[in-house]
Amino acid sequence: MSDAVIIDGKAFAADLRAEVGRKAALLKASHGLVPGLSVVLVGDDPASHVYVRNKGKATVAAGMDSQEYRLPATASHAEVLETVERLNADDSVHGILVQLPLPDQVDSNAIINAIDPDKDVDGFHTVNVGRLTTGQDSLVPCTPLGCLLMLRHFVGELKGKRAMIVGRSNIVGKPMASLLLREHCTVTVGHSRTQDLPGECRRADVLIAAVGRAEMIRGDWVKPGAAVIDVGINRVPAGEKTRLVGDVCFEEAVENAGWITPVPGGVGPMTIACLLKNTLTAACRRHAIEEPA
Ligand code: NDP
Repeated sequence: MSDAVIIDGKAFAADLRAEVGRKAALLKASHGLVPGLSVVLVGDDPASHVYVRNKGKATVAAGMDSQEYRLPATASHAEVLETVERLNADDSVHGILVQLPLPDQVDSNAIINAIDPDKDVDGFHTVNVGRLTTGQDSLVPCTPLGCLLMLRHFVGELKGKRAMIVGRSNIVGKPMASLLLREHCTVTVGHSRTQDLPGECRRADVLIAAVGRAEMIRGDWVKPGAAVIDVGINRVPAGEKTRLVGDVCFEEAVENAGWITPVPGGVGPMTIACLLKNTLTAACRRHAIEEPA
């Protein structure tokens, strides 16, 4: 029998969304301010449409304004840029999110860097990346922020812990490393060229998996008592159907871990909750209002 705490990301995210909703209501009552999030969606990728619809619903449920700007898959770079510039200039918009991936004719980096950094609720703008790595206030990418909030809540003090992050993407691995350094962890980042990845993982008190390879991290890669945060979302065949699994082999890892997130129902729900949190933060900063407690 495993003694691991299985972190319920769904319940934790619901609490965070409720907290953001409560703060949004306070902001409205005290300052007449309603945080607004605009999502720009280019093309007709079905998964992106589902994400955007869910983001919109969650934003409205938290008492904030939600706007969607849909452009066809044939939209030019200039058209997407023009949409972002219009939203930058709109005072009722506090958060702008451009849903990725963008079609090939659109330069994603240039579009992200055209967003006003103070409205960049995804935290991908180069200015926000720089602010995060240099320890300044910034908007932090939602998925790593969600992981950090779970670690702080369930594990507690992170200072001095040895953290291993598998994956070095700009969206998850690198910002996660910056956040854990800020928490005074000793951070190692692994990737496809890392030698002895299992050995590196086995030393970690906190193991974050953001690889995109189904169940790659096995149970004997997990140090007894470690906190295991599985960011991966992989669809694998299951008989006639498919099912979602993480980058960690849950059934094995749960036997060694002290804490572990399941897939689904772990990190995933935290991403949208953190997007709402970032939108509220951006609105408060824009109007120089202290964020409600
Ligand atoms: P990327 O594909 O951008 O990055 C994957 C990283 O894993 C790279 O750094 C790559 O190394 C590394 N990697 C790949 N194969 C291996 C290997 N065999 N051994 C060691 N390292 C390896 O992925 P993302 O960071 O965008 O996403 C990672 C996972 O998280 C995906 O499953 C994705 O679906 C999921 N995800 C979930 C979110 C959520 O809301 N829960 C949000 C975002 C992502 P190298 O750099 O050397 O190529």
